[in-house]
Amino acid sequence: METKELLKLGDEKLFHTYNRYQICLEKGDGVYLYDRDGKKYLDFGAGIAVFALGYNNKKYNDAIKAQLDNLIHTSNYFYNEPAIKAAKAITEASGMDRVFFTNSGTEAIEGAIKLAKKYYYLKHNNSTDGEIIAMEHSFHGRSMGALAVTGNKHYQEAFGPMIPGIKFAKFNDIESVKALVNDKTAAILFETVQGEGGVYPAKESFIKEVRKLCDEKGILLILDEIQCGMGRTGTMFAYQQYGVCPDILTSAKALGCGIPVGAFLAKEEVANALVPGDHGTTYGGNPLATAATNVVLDIFKEDNVLENVKTVGAYLEKRLEELVGEFDCVVERRGMGLMQGLQLSINPKDVISKALDNGLILFSAGTNVIRFVPPLVITKENVDEMIEKLKKCF
Ligand SMILES: *Cc1c(COP(=O)(O)O)cnc(C)c1O
Repeated sequence: METKELLKLGDEKLFHTYNRYQICLEKGDGVYLYDRDGKKYLDFGAGIAVFALGYNNKKYNDAIKAQLDNLIHTSNYFYNEPAIKAAKAITEASGMDRVFFTNSGTEAIEGAIKLAKKYYYLKHNNSTDGEIIAMEHSFHGRSMGALAVTGNKHYQEAFGPMIPGIKFAKFNDIESVKALVNDKTAAILFETVQGEGGVYPAKESFIKEVRKLCDEKGILLILDEIQCGMGRTGTMFAYQQYGVCPDILTSAKALGCGIPVGAFLAKEEVANALVPGDHGTTYGGNPLATAATNVVLDIFKEDNVLENVKTVGAYLEKRLEELVGEFDCVVERRGMGLMQGLQLSINPKDVISKALDNGLILFSAGTNVIRFVPPLVITKENVDEMIEKLKKCF
């Protein structure tokens, strides 16, 4: 079938929930993607911060193939070895005590919300009044619970009523959080680095003060590191650079690097609030998914991925910063490690389509922001190549 025909068929048969580019991607190698007609793209999107290890990674592929031939799925009524190993590895990497594996980010958020609610219920004489404070311009997913804590009216509008007891504070503004706290506050939830909202890292003073507030008032701190976690900012999880630890953590995206895996994790005392019958999933934590997480974490160690993020992340930051002075349309650079954003004064969509013409994949974020979330194995040369292409687009 001609590519044109195929795309037309896709337009007819898939739900039109995305304005897709007229490109059909076919294969990947390292940090490059190829479309069906053989055109090559340098990938600074990584399937939205998912494919951290580069495409066609032999070690990753071999581990998945081996697990395919062994066992793909069981059920959570039994144990399986990959899940136990992954649970050990991810709790050690995060400083959490227990993990519940899910199939996506939005499900990890659902679990985190349920856990916070149950914890409040047990602590407050079976009260279901527990409230959650989330942030404006946040993004936590598309299922009803996650949507309710997503601070974007546009995403929520047609789908009300939202679950009750959710309040929105201003991100990085501790006073606006304090103003919303009361006896019913069960949890405070935010992304350590806001992703979809426009790449805004939390200020160190903000995180520390929220942590202090939570400790004083017996409130749970939930950090959503679905996008900014798994090494993207230079440490396994971004909060590790702030010297704080959440009570509940959510992860997904690069946790499986392409095989769908998400997770919510918690400290022992909090995790124990959920007991048999409270929560479940058919696929979550199956051996194929958790084998992916295991090999991802192995490769992180063996290939010194975090070191690469630190070095190349600093270089990317420097090269992007140069563009702020060089082009009038580039207003500001923000971000940490290999999660960077450029605030523009022009429509980023135009830049992104030009970039595609020039063989470069980029995503936008928030209003007027270009987001850079490349595979974590990129090199300085890849950064230079990207900057050259981007300059042409400007
Ligand atoms: C992508 C994302 C989600 C939702 O994850 P899905 O796997 O798309 O459901 C939640 N929170 C953050 C911070 C994200 O970036």
